[in-house]
Amino acid sequence: MKSGSGSVIYTFSEGVLRTYTLSNMSAKSVFIQTFGCQMNKLDSEIITGSLLSVGYQPAQSESDADVILVNTCSVRKHAEERVYSRVSNLKHLKKKKPNLIIGIIGCMAQKDKERLFERLPHISLVCGPHRYKSIVGLIERIITNGSDRIVCADEEGLLKTEKYSHETYLADNKSAYVQIMRGCDNFCSYCIVPYVRGREISRQPEEIIPEVSSLLDKGVKEITLLGQNVTSYGKSLGDKVTLSSLLKELGRVQKVQGFKKFKGSKGLVISFFTSHPANVTDELLETMAALPEVKKTLHMPAQSGSNRILKMMNRGYTRKEYLEIVHKAKELMPDIKIVSDFIVGFPTETDEDFQDTVSLVKEARFSKIYVFKYSPRKGTSAEKLSDDVPMETKKYRNNCLLEKFKS
Ligand code: SF4
Repeated sequence: MKSGSGSVIYTFSEGVLRTYTLSNMSAKSVFIQTFGCQMNKLDSEIITGSLLSVGYQPAQSESDADVILVNTCSVRKHAEERVYSRVSNLKHLKKKKPNLIIGIIGCMAQKDKERLFERLPHISLVCGPHRYKSIVGLIERIITNGSDRIVCADEEGLLKTEKYSHETYLADNKSAYVQIMRGCDNFCSYCIVPYVRGREISRQPEEIIPEVSSLLDKGVKEITLLGQNVTSYGKSLGDKVTLSSLLKELGRVQKVQGFKKFKGSKGLVISFFTSHPANVTDELLETMAALPEVKKTLHMPAQSGSNRILKMMNRGYTRKEYLEIVHKAKELMPDIKIVSDFIVGFPTETDEDFQDTVSLVKEARFSKIYVFKYSPRKGTSAEKLSDDVPMETKKYRNNCLLEKFKS
């Protein structure tokens, strides 16, 4: 999205590209702040598109806005505390502008629902990630009916069965995010995602392929396929549909359309995000290697190098299996960039477990790593374990792992 006077926003949904020119400066303005993953970023862009399509303008800052939405992440306690701190700081704006609408959307909205009002009494709207299509109507309800507080989130049972809608967002005329699946069935013991985003649902290739084809017609050169657990794509669609088969189909689409190569450009680039090691098959790696349009990057969180901790995390692979994928990927694609995430200080993690993680980082020779200190998440199975690694040790291991990665 480009913002400001005379700006244009593009959204692409259900096969239709919409272009909005932002000119009505007397309209209400909206400011969205996004925490967390690419999926949240995509949701925020789609919500922005919906609001602009009914006449809202993008605010340049929170203090200029009539509506402030904070799209939240629950994956780590630290991320939640940042949201609380950020939204608490908006109190003074609400005092100055009593009609200001402040809303919490995303994973914290789904997880905590009306409990958010206890710490944030100045907010008016709580809307979970599966209900973002209702946001425009909910804001209008607050404005026209003077409703004080609205909560719109799913009950736990509904999460299991509800059909998600999936969207594509054309970030500009060169790149687009295409959501190919949502949710996660893995239930890693520390992770809140399956509880707030629900079970895995994949889009049919028959929906995705025409959308990508149309994006190529518009001149898009970079497509990012998004999903919480993107390597598990197709699991709900039968044996023949996998991420690998989808990549092959998308490769054919660009060839059939005779996608033009620009000077200095390799033509279409397709990437995908985020990969779970248990679903990274030889077939997927071979497809990545064979297709020039697939970006040679794999974001594949390892989380730990200790088999004992991996088992407690319910990750579904061993250290040896993880490293086999890394070696196979490098053998097939010597220039591949592998990025990984780690959690240090998981309950009962000993120095020996930590040294296993250090040695995995050394052996894998990652291009980049992200390290997080474990914090228990309410409702997950690991919450029942004692958070027994002292914070000082977590901090030491965090810094130490980053140092070892660099050395
Ligand atoms: S794979 Fe594990 S860590 Fe990733 S979203 Fe699913 S449950 Fe969470």
